[in-house]
Amino acid sequence: MEYRALGRTGLVVSRLCFGALTIGPLHANLSLSAGAGIIRRALEGGVNFIDTAESYDTYAYIRAALEGWDRPVVLATKSYAYTAAGMARSLEVARRELGRDVIEVFLLHEMESEHTLRGHREALEYLLAARARGLVRAVGISTHTVAGVRAAAREPEIDVIHPLFNCAGVGIRDGTADDMLSAIREAHGVGKGIYAMKALAGGHLIPRAEEALRYVLARPEIASVAVGMQSVAEVEFNLAIAGGRSVDPELRARLAEQRRRLHVEDWCQGCGQCVERCPHGALSLVGGRAAVDPGRCLLCGYCASACGHFCLKVV
Ligand code: SF4
Ligand code: SF4
Repeated sequence: MEYRALGRTGLVVSRLCFGALTIGPLHANLSLSAGAGIIRRALEGGVNFIDTAESYDTYAYIRAALEGWDRPVVLATKSYAYTAAGMARSLEVARRELGRDVIEVFLLHEMESEHTLRGHREALEYLLAARARGLVRAVGISTHTVAGVRAAAREPEIDVIHPLFNCAGVGIRDGTADDMLSAIREAHGVGKGIYAMKALAGGHLIPRAEEALRYVLARPEIASVAVGMQSVAEVEFNLAIAGGRSVDPELRARLAEQRRRLHVEDWCQGCGQCVERCPHGALSLVGGRAAVDPGRCLLCGYCASACGHFCLKVV
């Protein structure tokens, strides 16, 4: 495993970051021991960086995985809090449930633009004060927009940016993959630590997973790539790609057999754009939300780019 400096934070992270969303209740809903075991396998393979969020509800898995683990691990989490009191609660929940005095990276969750960032100023100020007190090491934002990356790049006190980036540009709400890469380069140029998310576009690029992962890993501006993993086979596959190794054909075959489905996130707004995009009639609106007919869904991924809210994931 290769390791890179995360901007000017002083933190050194593995190129592969364990994205913890997928093991938890919002996706695979694995048992505590199964989820912790998958994280542990990633740590044994050289991963030293785990990304989560308060809303993912996966702190218990991470804490269990780190039980008895004696090498340093960088933890990144995020909160939607926009007030000082809300962020104080989020930080305390993270410290208590992760069993840590210090959280290495704390992010404002999903900042869309300079306006969203301004609306979260109180929460950001709280995190900056917490950094000064030594309770967090680095402060930043996660974002699905080019505008979010550019806004954070202009804020001198922000250390880390966690942008959505993949070769197909799926999920980038205000531009293409090239637009996002240009914003990432700008942010990296002013010293921000960058770690990317959604390299596999929420599972839609799984058929091209190797190419898609290598595409993001090849960007020198991106210190690490957070990838959601929900099986040991997926961990082994991602470790091979991040380590520049070829993938064992037997492992490839095992992954191809893994059953997958299209998942609609809770925050679906019921706009219906994905319904129109699906060429196979597999989506409909039920109770104001998109619903999938698994008998018709071919997991082709066409619907993903129709959703500006990144609600559709292959899990
Ligand atoms: S993945 Fe393809 S078949 Fe399934 S709902 Fe989306 S567009 Fe339709
Ligand atoms: S496009 Fe997204 S927000 Fe709109 S109905 Fe489909 S999943 Fe929901």
